[in-house]
Amino acid sequence: MNWLKMASIRIIVVSMICYVYVCSVVVPFANRYGFFSGASSPPADRTTLYFLMTTPIFIAYIILVIFNLFRLESLRSIVFPLIVFSLYSGFFGSLMVMGGTILWLAVFGFPLFFVALIASVIIGVVMDIRNKKSNNSKVLFCRNCGNQLPYSAGFCTNCGTSIS
Ligand SMILES: [Zn+2]
Repeated sequence: MNWLKMASIRIIVVSMICYVYVCSVVVPFANRYGFFSGASSPPADRTTLYFLMTTPIFIAYIILVIFNLFRLESLRSIVFPLIVFSLYSGFFGSLMVMGGTILWLAVFGFPLFFVALIASVIIGVVMDIRNKKSNNSKVLFCRNCGNQLPYSAGFCTNCGTSIS
């Protein structure tokens, strides 16, 4: 599908898949075995499984974001806060393998996360507006079929060739 060739859409789709995975698999598991409880430590035989359920996926997510971040063509005002939210929840979600005592660190870090979230929305909106203004006047041509495209195009609307 052509829209999946857009870096912004890729980040949004993968983020949503990760959130569904975390909410339906990781959180129920963590609740059942006391990872989110400050009072008790999770059983040792569950920590390896929890680690495997969170950290590799978080690292894969970061790699995907890095690969797509510099190819963003639009929707920065949505993508930036999504990434900030994912980094905060993914970082502390992975650290929960050490037990619920890490919770206070997540609470302590929340004001910083909140400021970063607001900042990411503002930066995203500013960059989106600036991008739209500068791109309205520019056009480019597909190197495969010669189709004229708006400058912001991530792929050719005629033949699907990636524009980068
Ligand atoms: Zn083309």
